[in-house]
This record gives sequence, structure tokens and C-alpha cells, in this order.
Amino acid sequence: MKKTQARFLFLIIAAFMLQTCSLVPLTGRRQLSLVSDAEMLSMSFSQYDQFLKENRMSSNSADRNEVKRVGRNIQNAVTTYFARNDMSQGLNGFAWEFNLVENKEANAWCMPGGKVMVYSGILPLTRDEAGLAVVLGHEIAHAVAKHSNERMSQALISQLGGQVLAQALKQKPRQTQQIWMGLFGVGVQLGAVLPYNRLQEGEADRLGLIFMAMAGYDPHAAIPFWQRMSQKAGAQPPEFLSTHPADKKRMTKIIAAMPEAMRYYRK
Ligand SMILES: [Zn+2]
Repeated sequence: MKKTQARFLFLIIAAFMLQTCSLVPLTGRRQLSLVSDAEMLSMSFSQYDQFLKENRMSSNSADRNEVKRVGRNIQNAVTTYFARNDMSQGLNGFAWEFNLVENKEANAWCMPGGKVMVYSGILPLTRDEAGLAVVLGHEIAHAVAKHSNERMSQALISQLGGQVLAQALKQKPRQTQQIWMGLFGVGVQLGAVLPYNRLQEGEADRLGLIFMAMAGYDPHAAIPFWQRMSQKAGAQPPEFLSTHPADKKRMTKIIAAMPEAMRYYRK
């Protein structure tokens, strides 16, 4: 290839990268984003509503209230943090919701825009409010760091040949919906679940600890929680553990992130 051609190609790639990348709030990492926030939010809200319609929510009002209480506390912490740091536009369009589904799987997720679902099967592992705050802080951190935009973009490239979301939804609605479900591990075979990568996991752990601390939960609760999770590893690990390996590396990083999180701890 001639030099001028190479330079031209480089410029095109650079322009493409600039246009399709955005920054992760708080960590400043550049991320791939082929999907707009508006598209992600609209898909999120409709998929979340469909999940609410098709699944039975828990009838245990104490548990349901606990999920809502811890969720709201973390929501308030996140909102305060974003406002204080002049980043409130990163939460534009959020419509927070916290629900508890009757399901024996140990799982939880937060779809874009703050749409949280906790599975009743994870409560024996979270044990108390601080344990639940570990899970919710982590999942909410994935959502505010817009990790799903990044994963959806990657899936569109690898599975649908780089189609944009609107086009994919029109032309291949079923596959597109399946990719979406795979992003959150909703009603799909384990192999179809698209796990977050290590970088995203590290970000969610670190931000999650900060958010739970700001919400008034001692972030140290994360250590026994992940220990309980890792004890459950085996032939049939909990859904949450299969996408969130509680290995030594993770524990070391969580312990290293503790002093930073403790600076935000509001008793
Ligand atoms: Zn995660």
C-alpha cells in the first residue's frame, strides 16, 4: 500500500474510533459505542417490561421492600456523586426501578437506565442489606458505566456483521433480542450468556464499592460475600458466579480498592 493510502486509511479509522467511542464515567476509559444511549434505553425499557409481564414477582413483602430500600439508597448515592462531579448528563433518561423476581437462580442484573432485577435465589447468599448492597452496587455500576453499550456494540460486530441496532431490530428482531438476553443472562442457556470482560468487571467492582459506601453500607461486606459465592462454586455454580468468577485475582483487587471506597463511607 502506498504511503498516502495508508495515511488516508489511518485517518478514516481514527475518525471512526473517535465517533464511536465514549468515555466511562469516573474511570475515563475510552469504550466502543456503536449504539446510542437512546436506543439502549428504549430497548431496555421494553425488555424490562416484558420480563415483568412474563415472570412472577416475589410475594414476600419484607424481601421486596429490602430490595427497593437498598436499591433506592444506592440510586441516591449515584445521583449525588454524578451531580457533585458535574456528570449528571450521564444519567439522562434513567428511570430507576427495583424488583424481586420469584426465581431460585442466584442472579441479579441492571439493564440500562437503572432497571434492576434481583432473583430471590441470591438472597441466601447476600444474607443482609450490606450483602445485597454489594450485588446492587456492582450491577448498577455496570449500568452507569454504560458497559452494555460496549457489549452490544461488540455483539453487533461479531454476530450481526456490524449492523447498527435499529437496522438489526428491524431485519433480525429475534437474534437481536437473543443477544440482548445474553447480555443479562435472562432465560438463555448458560453458553449464550455474554460475560462482562475483566476490565468491565474490575470497573464495576471498584465503582460498586464506592457507591455502596456512599449509601451507608460498609464496603468490607464485599469480602465475605464473595467468599460465600466462591464456596458455592462446583458442578452447578450459581448463575451470578458463572459470570462473576470469585477467584483470587478478584479478591486481591477488591481488597486493594477498599481504602479508596472507605473514603466515601458514610456511616
Ligand atoms: Zn459484573
